[in-house]
Amino acid sequence: MEKYIFIIGGVISGVGKGVATASIAKILKEYGLNISVIKIDPYINCDAGTLRPTEHGEVWVTEDGGEIDQDLGTYERFLEKPLSKSNSITTGQIYKTLIEKERKGDFLGETVQYIPHVPEEIKLRIREIGKNHDIVLIEIGGTVGDYENIPFLFAAKSLENDIGKENVSYILVSYMPIPSHIDEMKTKPTQLAIKLLRENGIQPDFILCRGKKALDNVRKKKLEKYSNINAEYIISVPDVSSIYIIPLQLEKENLGEKLLKTLNLKKKKEPNWQPWINAISKSQNPSKEINIALVGKYLDIGEFQLKDSYLSVNEAINNSASFNNIKVKINWLDSKNIEKGLVDFKGCNGIIIPGGFGNSGVEGKIQAIKYARENNIPFLGLCFGLQLAVVEFSRNVCKLNAHSTEIDPEVEHNVIDILDEQRNIKEKGATMRLGSYKAILKDNTKIKEIYNSNEVYERHRHRYEVNPKYHSILEKNGLILSGLSPNGKLVEFIELENHPFFIATQAHPEFKSSLLNPSPLFNAFIKACLFNQEIEKELIKEL
Ligand code: GLN
Repeated sequence: MEKYIFIIGGVISGVGKGVATASIAKILKEYGLNISVIKIDPYINCDAGTLRPTEHGEVWVTEDGGEIDQDLGTYERFLEKPLSKSNSITTGQIYKTLIEKERKGDFLGETVQYIPHVPEEIKLRIREIGKNHDIVLIEIGGTVGDYENIPFLFAAKSLENDIGKENVSYILVSYMPIPSHIDEMKTKPTQLAIKLLRENGIQPDFILCRGKKALDNVRKKKLEKYSNINAEYIISVPDVSSIYIIPLQLEKENLGEKLLKTLNLKKKKEPNWQPWINAISKSQNPSKEINIALVGKYLDIGEFQLKDSYLSVNEAINNSASFNNIKVKINWLDSKNIEKGLVDFKGCNGIIIPGGFGNSGVEGKIQAIKYARENNIPFLGLCFGLQLAVVEFSRNVCKLNAHSTEIDPEVEHNVIDILDEQRNIKEKGATMRLGSYKAILKDNTKIKEIYNSNEVYERHRHRYEVNPKYHSILEKNGLILSGLSPNGKLVEFIELENHPFFIATQAHPEFKSSLLNPSPLFNAFIKACLFNQEIEKELIKEL
């Protein structure tokens, strides 16, 4: 019988429930078990594709073209295995399916109701994933007490009733605040979260106590007494310097073994943490430091900057930094500030233009690309970054009045134009060119050397492309179209010859990077940035 572990949040969101879930999945995988992870997002959107990145963070794209919450990315990075769009469940999907089934006549003669139909549909989806795995972890987004979580908690309890408690375990990831005016860790919010969970019929098997500091014995005992949970199952998870340390932290607390005990399971093999530890220690003891400018726009919300909009790019940079044994300082640049002339790229060893949509800050991004091209600064363009690099090259090298029709539909030279298959699309949800597509890499190009292959699959999320009408003009002026779709129509990679590193891709290689297997393209970019820094140092010495 397959087993299920529900991970539920308490007190506040944003305390690392996703990382905790990914870490537990990693531990169980190290024990030789076949693991899958589901993310439940209780919003009415059918997927994350239509959400605002400044509110929800970046949209994660799966191999099969799902547009999903970034937690799925964390699971993939820790598990080192691609997950499918069916690993994401939202309220919108559940209701859409139920209403479609009702209209088809699947429930003829029945009243379709919140109970039992909604939880039944939720369980159906969870058990579908369970069919091919030993254990499925299910992270329920938000926190217990949110109105929108209720059907999912009901479904969890109902699944337990269907298959027995020995096949289901519950983990509450809670937050332990230390109010600054008393400087003492408080357990009360967690006690209340446990109480709320019980109101849904769920007694947590484990409490993971997240906080700035470790949970001391006094507070552990207090939680034990007030919540009737043995202290052995109350796990302290204080802040650490890297998220990749968390599986090791949980292993030290024996969480994996304790979990298997509650589920009547045994390890299938002894874990080998050495490769993981080696990769972390490289990042902890960097030999050098470089500066990279990441030029974005989804950075401000109120008084705060939300770097989560570029989470995978950030992770891919860090994965490649540890791989190269260096530290990367990311300078988050708002492209609107470049337009206002407030930015100076001095001391910057590389520039990244990540994915993006719409016209805000576009000219600032184009200025950054021009600077990188003219000053031999390593440049990496990702999706929108490729499109704007083509616009920059068309304007300043080919001398064309050029733009993307996404920004200026009436422009004279539409070097970036809507994909043919996108022209008549009316519905915005899940209709971009999404998921994994093959690119054929040209001989004697940097990109072919980097991937060390004639072809490569990367994930995509776009509606626009380099207009095939301009391929030959761009090439005549020196832009190398170094990777194309198998039919030769779509530009997948571009590069410049007489530049230390000027490469852009229509894809998002950041979605296939992990600590143990960093992206070859990011690795090469980071190496080029390091080289740029060394050259600069030499120059300064000579002066
Ligand atoms: N806005 C561009 C397009 O839709 C680029 C998308 C992206 O960067 N992911 O084609």
